[in-house]
Amino acid sequence: MPNANLMLFLGEALVYVAAMIGLLHLRSRLGLGVFVAALGVMHFIETYLAAVFYVELPFGVISPGSAVLFSGKLMMILLLYVKEDAATVRQPIYGLLVGNFLTVALSLLLRQHDTVDIIPNRAADIAFIDEMGWLMLWGTTLLYFDSIIIILLYEKLGRWFRRFVTIRFLISGATVLTFDQIGFYIALYFVNGAPADVFWGGWMAKMLAAPFYALAIGFYLNASRHAFLAISDRPLGDVFNDLTFRERYEDLLSRSGQDTLTGALDRGRFELEGRQMLYEAATNNAPVSLMLIDVDQFKSVNDGFGHMEGDRVLKKLVETISVGLRPTDRLFRYGGEEFVALCPGLAYGDAHARAEDIRLAVSKRVATSDGHPVTISIGLSSTRADGTGVGELLSQADIRLYAAKRGGRDRVVGR
Ligand code: GH3
Ligand code: MG
Ligand code: MG
Repeated sequence: MPNANLMLFLGEALVYVAAMIGLLHLRSRLGLGVFVAALGVMHFIETYLAAVFYVELPFGVISPGSAVLFSGKLMMILLLYVKEDAATVRQPIYGLLVGNFLTVALSLLLRQHDTVDIIPNRAADIAFIDEMGWLMLWGTTLLYFDSIIIILLYEKLGRWFRRFVTIRFLISGATVLTFDQIGFYIALYFVNGAPADVFWGGWMAKMLAAPFYALAIGFYLNASRHAFLAISDRPLGDVFNDLTFRERYEDLLSRSGQDTLTGALDRGRFELEGRQMLYEAATNNAPVSLMLIDVDQFKSVNDGFGHMEGDRVLKKLVETISVGLRPTDRLFRYGGEEFVALCPGLAYGDAHARAEDIRLAVSKRVATSDGHPVTISIGLSSTRADGTGVGELLSQADIRLYAAKRGGRDRVVGR
């Protein structure tokens, strides 16, 4: 019998992970709300099962509520972070927290009612709802910390094995699930006197769930050719601030958002507007193209003519690039002499032609004081073939920019 139970567990985990990854994968078509609502709905049955539904496995008595559904949810939250960002992940976490507080608050009011037993032998079990409410509240409070820890841990692990995403998911998942098992068992013990077996069985099951989900997610990320390069070099403090709503969007917006030297939009604006633009484009089913532009041998301009001359070249460069862009395109200064152009509604082929024009115009019109032409290299990427998120587009463009440099500079490299 325990072995049949094990197979059932596997089946449940498989159904769960396939459905949730599917919803997440289709988020640009369906909207992220579908994934988030599904995640939220699973919360009740997950807690219900964890409170009262136990089955025997070869290594102990455990509940699919925590082993399959809770572990799965935590891994999905981490996957959502990998696919989107901290500012997105915090939304379902805070939503769950508020929803569960509301459940407890309402059940306090509900129990004041004088109810009518209209269906025989079917009295409402408010005490049970109450118990569930408190458990869910405790569960989500734990989840709040779990989520923050699992994301920070995942980022930290990235310093050592950036590309081994399965290992990162496994280690951060197993660590946080252990922490969570301790926390949730304490509640179970006080609410319904769960015996110690429940703790050990549950922990073993979570330690099996972690590699199962890590493998499934690793497989998915590799199969969908998720790129792990750019953007994620953010300091951990920034990620933490995002998760806890401590960042200041208004602050960013109230600053002019423009780079003072060149007049291009600054990096902060890129983070904000890039995400927004891609979201809108996905909703309207329109493409977006991204050009990552880097000046060729710019150090030699500085070295040969001084920084003032370097600065003048950068100004002239931005002027020239801007002429080649459409009014709806946005040009950002991404780094010292690196720029990103985001072009909404521009499909890959047109974007390539435009990038080629810009490259030509720069080599014709921008020059050092001795008349020597200044050239640029461009890495080009477009939705959806290269991805649907800013991070994915940037990573692809980065790889191609590098190829353009290796190929001899003064060129556009796309697909
Ligand atoms: P590559 O073709 O490989 O890109 O060669 P590169 O010399 O351009 O190499 P890289 O992109 O690494 O060089 C960046 C240089 O740009 C280094 C830095 O001194 C210079 N730089 C960055 N920001 C500014 C700036 O605001 N003004 C000036 N004058 N120089 C800057
Ligand atoms: Mg550079
Ligand atoms: Mg350069």
